[in-house]
Amino acid sequence: MKGDAKSAEKRHMTYYELREAMETRECPICHLAVRAVTSYFSGLLWESVNDAGVREKIRAARGYCNVHMRQMVMLAGSLSLAIIARDLVETMIDDLPDSSPAPRLLPHKRPSASQCPACRVREMAAQRYLTTFVAHLNEPDWRDQFLASKGLCRLHTARARALANGDERQFLMDAARRHLESLKAELDEVIRKNDYRFNGEPWGDERDAPQRAAGIIAGSPGGVE
Ligand SMILES: [Zn+2]
Ligand SMILES: [Zn+2]
Repeated sequence: MKGDAKSAEKRHMTYYELREAMETRECPICHLAVRAVTSYFSGLLWESVNDAGVREKIRAARGYCNVHMRQMVMLAGSLSLAIIARDLVETMIDDLPDSSPAPRLLPHKRPSASQCPACRVREMAAQRYLTTFVAHLNEPDWRDQFLASKGLCRLHTARARALANGDERQFLMDAARRHLESLKAELDEVIRKNDYRFNGEPWGDERDAPQRAAGIIAGSPGGVE
């Protein structure tokens, strides 16, 4: 009973987080996935840096992928970064091959994206939000809210489509077309206003369309692999 109440509460929260994310100017799933990674790093750096189990997982993954290692450096204080980096340097020393021509150990086990603990956090968050997003697609006000948003990026459109049933899938594809057509019109407007004959005209909502388009095409920075 307690568990049921807890999961209902969780769904509730996910739903409202999505609602809020649909009011941003980027793919709501990317937005929330990036936020999940940021909060993972905050928890790690401010609360769990001395947790042996957490540190062992990071060692086992051989650290983070390029993007997430950089994000951790940006967020970490010198001491927490030193503690985690020391573990990883020690692991690199252990991983060094011996001098025999056919080394028994891999010369340098780099974490692939799937092994990176922060990538895992991002993927789990994206899946959780996508599932909730699709689960509400039979509700008219949810559809309206989505249509009023800036839309999903290419990858999250494909993932949502894969989770949806026939009618919802049709809606998602119609919505994607509407979002993309409107984005294209905004890009046309940016191009037009850059023409010297029109460049005295004030900018409207289309002002950030080129940057938004980049996010829709390839996902927000850090939002997809
Ligand atoms: Zn996305
Ligand atoms: Zn990563």
